[in-house]
Amino acid sequence: MLSKKVEEALNAQVNAELWSAYYYLSMSAHFTDAGLNGFAHWFRKQAREEQDHAMKLYDYIHARNGKVLFAAVAQVPSSWTTPLSVFEDTLTHEKKVTAMIHKIVALATEEKDYATVSFLNWFVDEQVEEEATALGYVEALKFIDGDKIGVYMLNNELGSK
Ligand code: MG
Repeated sequence: MLSKKVEEALNAQVNAELWSAYYYLSMSAHFTDAGLNGFAHWFRKQAREEQDHAMKLYDYIHARNGKVLFAAVAQVPSSWTTPLSVFEDTLTHEKKVTAMIHKIVALATEEKDYATVSFLNWFVDEQVEEEATALGYVEALKFIDGDKIGVYMLNNELGSK
């Protein structure tokens, strides 16, 4: 049985993951509008991954005999100035998600809910990857420095991922 506090925190995380999916889908739409279909493809895939994260939590809450509750998914931004700003926002967002996950791990530890701690370890590891990936593209786009050929090449690279 999940404690009330852990159940609430896991449900808040379901919402956060769905918000992430919504956020990345908005970024994907932004890139489609801008004619950068490789970037659009990559963010669409990210959106799908975030849905998978939400479903992992959904299944876990049910496995522990909890109740999944769906809160409203808040409005997401819909336009960005440059590809770099999109990836900077992605990195900032993933850092926030990491902090949220760590907070639930701390809470579950406090509640001696070791099953939840173990379950969340996958998310802890996943966040290391998410942050590293976003940082990698922030650095690549800083290097490209707005050069159109560079953006074109990165667009092709992301399109094949
Ligand atoms: Mg996620």
